[in-house]
Amino acid sequence: MRYVSTRGQAPTLGFEDVLLTGLARDGGLYLPQAWPTFSADKIAGFAGQPFDLVATDVVDALAGGAIPRDELARMAREAYATFGHAAVTPLVQIAPNRFVLELFHGPTLAFKDVAMQLLARLMDYVLAKRGERATIVGATSGDTGGAAIEAFRASKRTDVMILFPDGRVSDVQRRMMTTPTEPHIHAIAIDGTFDDAQARVKDLFNHHAFRDRVKLSGVNSINWARIAAQVTYYFVAGAALGAPHRKVSFIVPTGNFGDIFAGYVARMMGLPIETLTIATNSNDILARTVSTGTYETRGVVATSSPSMDIQVSSNFERYLFEASGRDAARVGQMMDQLKQGGRFVLDVALAQRLKADFAAGAADEATVTKTISVTLAESGYLLDPHTACAVAACSKPTRATAQAPQVILATAHPAKFPDTVAAIAGIKPGLPKRLNRLMSDPERIHRLPNDVRAIETYVASHARAAKEGA
Ligand SMILES: *Cc1c(COP(=O)(O)O)cnc(C)c1O
Repeated sequence: MRYVSTRGQAPTLGFEDVLLTGLARDGGLYLPQAWPTFSADKIAGFAGQPFDLVATDVVDALAGGAIPRDELARMAREAYATFGHAAVTPLVQIAPNRFVLELFHGPTLAFKDVAMQLLARLMDYVLAKRGERATIVGATSGDTGGAAIEAFRASKRTDVMILFPDGRVSDVQRRMMTTPTEPHIHAIAIDGTFDDAQARVKDLFNHHAFRDRVKLSGVNSINWARIAAQVTYYFVAGAALGAPHRKVSFIVPTGNFGDIFAGYVARMMGLPIETLTIATNSNDILARTVSTGTYETRGVVATSSPSMDIQVSSNFERYLFEASGRDAARVGQMMDQLKQGGRFVLDVALAQRLKADFAAGAADEATVTKTISVTLAESGYLLDPHTACAVAACSKPTRATAQAPQVILATAHPAKFPDTVAAIAGIKPGLPKRLNRLMSDPERIHRLPNDVRAIETYVASHARAAKEGA
C-alpha cells in the first residue's frame, strides 16, 4: 500500500515512512491510496473479541500489511495492557438505546492513549529496525502531550518535545507532561494558544533543512498511524451493538477532527454507520461549516473542555480531500485561502456532501453544565465536559424501535478536570489509584516564546538525532 498527500505535491510513501514523517513535505496529510474494506462476516466476527486482536486486524489493513503480523499483534497486546480496564474501551448504557464508549481507561485518562500507546511502539520498532533515531515534536491542547510523553517514556530511539499553551491546560494535564523524569522527555510551555503551538510545529515541519537535520517526526493526529489505531474502537463498539446487521450512530467530541475522521474511515471500510455527529463546544467552526458551507475561523475562546478549544481542525483537510474526489489542487486552494484570509467557501456539491456525511451540534458552557447535571440525575453517570458536549449533540431519543443505537465517545475521565466537574456536579471525581503521586511529584517545565527560531534552537540542541547525523 502507498500513501498520498492531500496536497498532491509530495512523493507517495510506504507505511513506515508515513509513520515517521507526520506532515507531508508539501504541507499536506497522508492517506492510503485506496481504502481497505472488511466483509460483513469479518465485522460480525469482531463482536466479543479482545480489543488488541481487533486493533491488529484494523491496523494491519490500514498499514497495508507493512508491519509483520506477529510483531503488530505483540505491540497491540503490550499497548492495551497499559489500560486500567480489562475491556480496554467498555460500553456503558446511560439511557434506552444510548451508550457511552469509555475511551479513557489508559494511563493519562483520555482517548489519546488508545492511539499513542500503539504509535510509540510502532515508531520504536521501525527506528530500531533501521538503526535510526527521531525527534518528536508535537503541539497539545492538553491531552495529546501527556499521552505522547507517557507512551514514549520507555522509547529508546526518540527525543520528545511537547509544546503546550502556557496556563491553558488543567493541572492534571500539565503534571502528566511535567512530572516524568526521563531526560529524553521535554515539556515546553509556549507563550500563546494551542493554535499558535500547532502553527509553530507546522513551521518546523515546513523548514525542510531543519526537519532533515533533527529527523523530525510528528505524533499529532496529522500522523496517519494515530487515525488508523483509533478506527479500532468504532469496529469494537459497532460489532458489540449488532453491526453490520444493524446500523450504529456515533457522536464524537471534536477538536482537530482526528477522532471523528477515524469514524469516517471505519465507514469507508464497511462499518454501517447511520449518523456520525460532530460535537463541538463554543469553538464551533465545524458545526458552522456543516450548516453554512463556509469554514471561517474566529478567535478561540477558553471553555471547560480545553482539548476542544481549537479553531483550525487539521484533519478536516483529509475529509476535504476525500469528499472532493481526491482533488489535491482544490484542497491546496482552500488551504491557501484559509492561511491568507482565515476562511474558505465550500462549493455547492462539497457542502451538500458534508451535510450528508455528518450531523453537527455545538454546546455552549451553559449547555455543558446542564448536560452534566441532568445526566447525573437521570442515570447516575458522571460526564467530563468534553463528553458532555457529545451528549448535548445527541438527537432526541424517539420511541421508534428501529432507531440505530447512539454511541457517545467519552474522550476523557471526569477526574482529569476535577474542579470543573466538582463545580457543576458537586462531586469531586478522584484520580485512579495508579496516579497517586501525580499531584505531588516535582515538575520540570521549559518556557519559550511563541517564536519559531527560539523553538528551533531548543529542539536542535536537545535532539540526539541531530548530533548523530552531524
Ligand atoms: C483531543 C481531544 C478531543 C478532540 O479530539 P480530535 O481528534 O482532536 O477531534 C476531544 N476530547 C478530549 C478529551 C481530547 O483529549
